[in-house]
Amino acid sequence: MKILEINHMKKSFDDLEVIKDISLSVNEGEVLSIIGPSGSGKSTVLRCATMLEKMDGGELIYLGEHAAEMNNEGRSVYASKKDLKRIHKHFGLVFQSFNLFPHYSVLKNIIDAPMSVDKISRKEAEERAMALLKKLGLEDKKDAYPFQLSGGQQQRVSIARALALQPKILFFDEPTSALDPELTGEVLKVIKELAQDNMTMIIVTHEMQFAKELSDRIIFMEDGVIQGEGTPEDIFNTENERIKDFIGKFA
Ligand code: ADP
Ligand code: MG
Repeated sequence: MKILEINHMKKSFDDLEVIKDISLSVNEGEVLSIIGPSGSGKSTVLRCATMLEKMDGGELIYLGEHAAEMNNEGRSVYASKKDLKRIHKHFGLVFQSFNLFPHYSVLKNIIDAPMSVDKISRKEAEERAMALLKKLGLEDKKDAYPFQLSGGQQQRVSIARALALQPKILFFDEPTSALDPELTGEVLKVIKELAQDNMTMIIVTHEMQFAKELSDRIIFMEDGVIQGEGTPEDIFNTENERIKDFIGKFA
């Protein structure tokens, strides 16, 4: 089953055409990584896919349901607020910069959205949160505040918070690039475990070895278009000079 389908996504900021024409889809249980130079539009694709930004053109489809359709001119026409609210529950997004509520404990950071969005009881939300904290090795941190945690721990709490809403697909936007090198491993390990549990994910990353090990497919983006796409073997053995050159910088 296709969890997400994007067709002909376009996005400009004033005169700057950032996303020129992006189409991709992700099947259930698949891990898709997006790599590419800074400024190529990777975050914008994720922000449009998660409806933090509106696309100008193209279609956005979750589980066969249109969040946005295309009109005759290719412009995006979004579904009703009510439909979008429901579609919103299908995905979660983990940012580079953790984005935890600083004045909430770890537990409250995690249970807040399930209680308000999913309307589940505090008891059920806490049970869900504790199971996730246990899984991510943070059981003893439930009463801590974000400032009392390392960056790696904060990012793991962010992942637990996204998982607490039981999304069908999880997006990661450079989840380790704000971390000190010695802390990236613990976050990558958690994402690897999610992949082993067959979580569907789209991951924007500069961690080439990680992308190679974990991904079913890799997309190389540049200048708002997909310049190459394939299995990790395809991408890491490509003859495409741009991709070779880009990957070479991380070797
Ligand atoms: P990447 O994540 O690949 O580094 P981004 O999607 O963040 O790339 O940005 C692509 C381009 O779009 C950059 O030139 C950036 O400056 C521009 N851009 C992104 N967001 C905005 C915005 N809200 N307003 C204006 N320009 C933006
Ligand atoms: Mg980015």
